[in-house]
Amino acid sequence: MALAKFKSDDHRASITDQVGDTALVREGSHVDGQWTPGPSRGLLAVNNPADGSLLAELDTVGIEATRAAVDAAESAMASWAAATPMHRAGRLEAWYDLIASHREDLARIMTLEQGKPIGEARGEIDYAASFVKFYAEQARRVDVESVTSQFPDADLRVTREPVGVVALVTPWNFPAAMFTRKAAAALAAGCTVVAHPSSQTPLSALALMELAVRAGFAPGVINMLIGSAREIVGELCADNRVRAMSFTGSTEIGRKLLEQCAATVKTMVMELGGHAPLLVFDDADFDRSVDQAVGAKFATSGQDCLAANRLFVQRGIYDRFTRAFAERTAALNVDFGLNEEAEIGPLMHEAAVQKCEVHVADAVARGAKVLCGGERLAPGSLFFRPTVLVDVPADARIMSEETFGPVAAFAPFDTEEEVIARANDSEYGLVAYLFTADYPRISRLSRALQYGMVAVNRAKITGPTIPFGGVKQSGLGREGARHGMEAFTELKYTCIHNG
Ligand code: NAP
Repeated sequence: MALAKFKSDDHRASITDQVGDTALVREGSHVDGQWTPGPSRGLLAVNNPADGSLLAELDTVGIEATRAAVDAAESAMASWAAATPMHRAGRLEAWYDLIASHREDLARIMTLEQGKPIGEARGEIDYAASFVKFYAEQARRVDVESVTSQFPDADLRVTREPVGVVALVTPWNFPAAMFTRKAAAALAAGCTVVAHPSSQTPLSALALMELAVRAGFAPGVINMLIGSAREIVGELCADNRVRAMSFTGSTEIGRKLLEQCAATVKTMVMELGGHAPLLVFDDADFDRSVDQAVGAKFATSGQDCLAANRLFVQRGIYDRFTRAFAERTAALNVDFGLNEEAEIGPLMHEAAVQKCEVHVADAVARGAKVLCGGERLAPGSLFFRPTVLVDVPADARIMSEETFGPVAAFAPFDTEEEVIARANDSEYGLVAYLFTADYPRISRLSRALQYGMVAVNRAKITGPTIPFGGVKQSGLGREGARHGMEAFTELKYTCIHNG
């Protein structure tokens, strides 16, 4: 995170021109009901990845403001946790209504700072809002159980209580939905939150924070900190008053946070990297499989934890399938995200483009062939042409590392056993895609694939009612559904002597 000292004059025009409600463009942290608390530690520049233009310069905070945010969240806990579920549901419903009515502004802010095509950005705002609505309803369903007593003279009760202050750390690829998926579940459970959005895309989360203020959440219930993740998140890990941490991001940083939180023994929810295999059998519906596979690879311009990275196609249809896939890929519209026709936007930063270049070069050096793409649109550009590689050998880096870009790597397979072994040969286990018309095979593979989620004959599988998450090093815990609230509650058993 590079910090500057003085604000430049040319910022804001480009973003406030694009947004109807300009008060959504916030330029600092929110702590205890106040925007930009305390003196700025320096300025964080937010740039449009499509052309490098400056969108905003944000005041940053450090450890002191982080402690103040935890103080505020802890003070607000007592009344937020004691409020009726109906009260919490009411605030979440008000937040949902505001998100829905500001959909277009929120989508434009996201496209400007993240680059994703405007159609996808609108879809993400709907997805983000759906968690707020779902958990507004779910807030009312934190049930109490009475348990059969083992004592003749005691009544037994099991209740769920909010775990306490929750830290939320979110990535840049879904800057709205990853925040609401966590925040709405924690708030519904009666927890207060301190959030750190990615420094690369803070404006989307700040706009949602502004709408939360308007929705009437009391000061301290939701706090948001802009600044160095090492400092802010490091402090949140160390603070014993933070009782749970929910992180979405890379496996590498997730491992570090698990270590850093060990000293305070927090509940951890980890939504980490993926390296999805996509399996197409000879008997699959050909046209549908091609269509869905293109979606599974190129959504979010390939910068998606669910992106298909390794595409295995049975030998009988391998050549025809890869040719059809490459034709569809070459026709994808690579463009500035605000263009309604855009299908692929820029990548987030230079390192993301370089990773694509390295994966392509490495695969080609090991014998893979490029059917389309393979390079940037122009020197210095963050747009990378959607790429199809075929005959990629198992030892190529792309077959074991998450690319996080628009590069599809194909390899043929012969038997079911062989492809199951290849699909499971990964440290990751988030999602696997399967295309076949054979129901017994679907049943066998859904058990055999070591993944938290299995998508059969379709690419789109997410929504607020499903338990989203991975196995192995793709994470711990689940988000969404009733399971997404469980990590933010503790079970309490009470034994009441009634003799
Ligand atoms: P990242 O580099 O791990 O960053 C994620 C978050 O961690 C950001 O808020 C970042 O803040 C913070 N962070 C970075 N370094 C840190 C440190 N040393 N200590 C504490 N916090 C730190 O991930 P990303 O590049 O933003 O996102 C891409 C990754 O997220 C991919 O691996 C993708 O698969 C994964 N992802 C997973 C899911 C899922 O649901 N499983 C969903 C989306 C994305 P700063 O930006 O301020 O540095």
